[in-house]
Amino acid sequence: MTLTPVEPLPEREVRVRAPGKINLSLRVGAREEDGYHPLSTVFQAVSVFEEVVATPSSDRTLSVAGVQADVVPTDGTNLALRAVEVLAGHVGVDEGVHLHLEKGVPVAGGMAGGSADAAAALLACDTLWATGLSRAELIEIAAHVGADVPFLLMGHTAVGQGRGHLLTPALTRGDFHWAFAVQDRGLSTSDVYTRFDELHGGVPGPPDGQDDVPLMHALRAGDPHALGAALHNDLQMASLDLDPMLAEPLAVAEDAGALGVIVSGSGPTVAALARSRQHALALAAAFTASGVADRVLTASGPVAGARVVSSD
Ligand code: ATP
Repeated sequence: MTLTPVEPLPEREVRVRAPGKINLSLRVGAREEDGYHPLSTVFQAVSVFEEVVATPSSDRTLSVAGVQADVVPTDGTNLALRAVEVLAGHVGVDEGVHLHLEKGVPVAGGMAGGSADAAAALLACDTLWATGLSRAELIEIAAHVGADVPFLLMGHTAVGQGRGHLLTPALTRGDFHWAFAVQDRGLSTSDVYTRFDELHGGVPGPPDGQDDVPLMHALRAGDPHALGAALHNDLQMASLDLDPMLAEPLAVAEDAGALGVIVSGSGPTVAALARSRQHALALAAAFTASGVADRVLTASGPVAGARVVSSD
């Protein structure tokens, strides 16, 4: 009898894509006793993407490729590996996994690239391990990984309260077009909050989302001019105080006719709202020509949250 050699099973691979985000509005209350600041924010997911490929492995390991890959930690402090630990603990799985991250979102840029990786890793491992969790359960688990992670699973446009993790989807019409001035130097989110405390400290208690009524109307009407006028970031002054050079891309975007321009989250990425896709390219060209950005990106939003791209 001849034995037919058994072909090894092809290695399973799950590829997930997750977007970065900008905060169309970020309102920050005074620091609370636990050290956190209550927020009222309006997130929009934009077409700048992270990809995470998960393959079975004996350990839990991670590799990184893409722009600025060299400054991303590959140990247990990486948010994607933290997400795997949280999910595995929750569903009682002790399997290993290798995660390969392909970075497209600027690192430490205020666009939540690390949280996007965490959202993608959660969905990839959930698929690989066939946990049977609902999307709502996964979003709940995501909140234990980081405040921005639930939104990056959900995507589109949403109001975030609490630490940003209590989400309500927002009605929007059409696409909005953005140009981003990206800096190689990052800004630490915790440094920006510390400077925010030193500068004005915020009003005690949760910030009032009522201030964003004009912004919500603009989104619902699909009116980029009204949206541009309604963009708001309570952290902008603190980011500018830590990195005064950020005034330059803000001024360049205004001169080039941006409908609104804002520091994205804690910065240092500057987001400029354009009239059209063509105008977003013109704004990006203005950033490049004036030498106020290390890199430029254009994108549109809203886009969906983390999605499985392939699973085989
Ligand atoms: P946020 O907008 O949520 O404040 P950010 O976009 O400013 O985040 P990230 O790129 O998410 O910043 O990462 C901030 C820091 O976290 C990095 O400087 C890095 O040391 C660490 N980090 C942990 N995991 C990751 C990851 N997967 N990708 C990038 N940085 C990570």
